[in-house]
Amino acid sequence: MTETITTDVCVVGGGPAGLTFALALAARGHQVVVLEKNRSFERSFRGESIAPDSVWLLEQLGVLDALRRQRILDVRQMELRDAGATVLRVDFRTLAQPARLPVEVPQPMLLGTLTEAAERHPGFTLLRQAAATGLVVADGRVRGVDATTERGPLRVRARLTVGADGRYSKVRDWAGLPYRKLPLGRDFLWFVAPCPAVWTNDTYRIRISGNQHAMCIPTYPDLVRVGFNIPKNGLRQLRAQGIGALHARIDELAPELSDAVREAVPGWSQTALLEIFTGVVPRWGVPGLALLGDAAHTLTPVLAQGINHAIIDGITFARMVGHALTGTSVDERLDEATAGFQRMRKPSVDRARGLQLRQEKLFALASAPAQALRRTVYRLVDHTPPLKRRIWTGLYQTPIGGTDGPDVPAAGLHPAH
Ligand SMILES: Cc1cc2nc3c(=O)[nH]c(=O)nc-3n(C[C@H](O)[C@H](O)[C@H](O)COP(=O)(O)OP(=O)(O)OC[C@H]3O[C@@H](n4cnc5c(N)ncnc54)[C@H](O)[C@@H]3O)c2cc1C
Repeated sequence: MTETITTDVCVVGGGPAGLTFALALAARGHQVVVLEKNRSFERSFRGESIAPDSVWLLEQLGVLDALRRQRILDVRQMELRDAGATVLRVDFRTLAQPARLPVEVPQPMLLGTLTEAAERHPGFTLLRQAAATGLVVADGRVRGVDATTERGPLRVRARLTVGADGRYSKVRDWAGLPYRKLPLGRDFLWFVAPCPAVWTNDTYRIRISGNQHAMCIPTYPDLVRVGFNIPKNGLRQLRAQGIGALHARIDELAPELSDAVREAVPGWSQTALLEIFTGVVPRWGVPGLALLGDAAHTLTPVLAQGINHAIIDGITFARMVGHALTGTSVDERLDEATAGFQRMRKPSVDRARGLQLRQEKLFALASAPAQALRRTVYRLVDHTPPLKRRIWTGLYQTPIGGTDGPDVPAAGLHPAH
């Protein structure tokens, strides 16, 4: 027999977008049920980089201190080397931004901490091992979801259903929302290795050599996550060359890592492939349903914007939904909130996507003259502090929408540490 529960809002997906949204909404006194198909939050090779505007938001949500008491790395700078020379360096401490520094937080810890905070509010329920299987639709409106759980089939009836089920969103498909996948020319291979002694673990390092690049991201406690580009669908070909081909690539891009990589990555099973694409969804909702996070706008890993936008989405939409739920004509107001949410968030997402695509084009330049020009562009940015500030402010100081609550303050007004 199907169990039925009724709630204000049902969220499909307990990732950064779904849980931030659920916490912010439950904190406003509303009922929210989150369905998460996995039993635990353990997941490898996911975004762990949190930009300063989201750090500030996590502080507003009351979870930053709890994160700091656990495992967190402050990142002080970004360094980009091209053809063996440092061509761009950004010291985050010199930028005006909501919180001083970006941080690296293991994703299971972020999700666990958001859940603990949300569980302090009586309206919050997280059902693990509960996989949504379809939408409940009546009178032209989404009214909830059906799910399978450990205890058997479940129907969640809700005034609003939120698809926060990630880049391969099924909720998006079930709602018939068109989706355009724009594959980038290359994919990415990730692995983790110990941070070499010659590196401090507080720096994003980007290494470019010709049309190859690697991103080296500090990872708690003394590790580094490394992603490097491979040709689209080129994993099989790379693997056929043996693991030595990966080691040789790292020797070229980041020789400081050579020994660590040989030890930490003796075979392909220590690597993970990330298919790189960006996803454009022209409409983020239908009556009774909205999409959040990667389901609404998959970004690429360049400049680590995925979690940032997931968190900003969650907070912004919770403010809007909270208001809609407290008035009359709730259904109409929820639909207005969904449309308003997309209007508010889309320009920032489009800006981030544009910057990512331009970066990827620069990384992939094939001819020597174009690569020389690339180095000139990076050096120009490096030597023009106002330009540098402008670029990073656009990335790290996204305006937060919603109808109340503090927006991200103008500049460095709220240093978190
Ligand atoms: C390999 C990799 C590396 C990345 N690196 C970075 C990085 O360095 N920095 C960065 O900012 N971003 C990075 N990202 C992107 C970042 O992880 C995402 O942008 C972010 O997690 C999006 O959050 P989300 O909540 O929208 O989706 P997700 O994190 O994908 O969460 C979706 C959740 O929905 C659940 N779910 C799916 N279907 C169902 C269902 N039917 N029923 C119930 N639950 C369901 C999933 O189990 C999952 O928990 C990376 C992503 C990947 C895959």
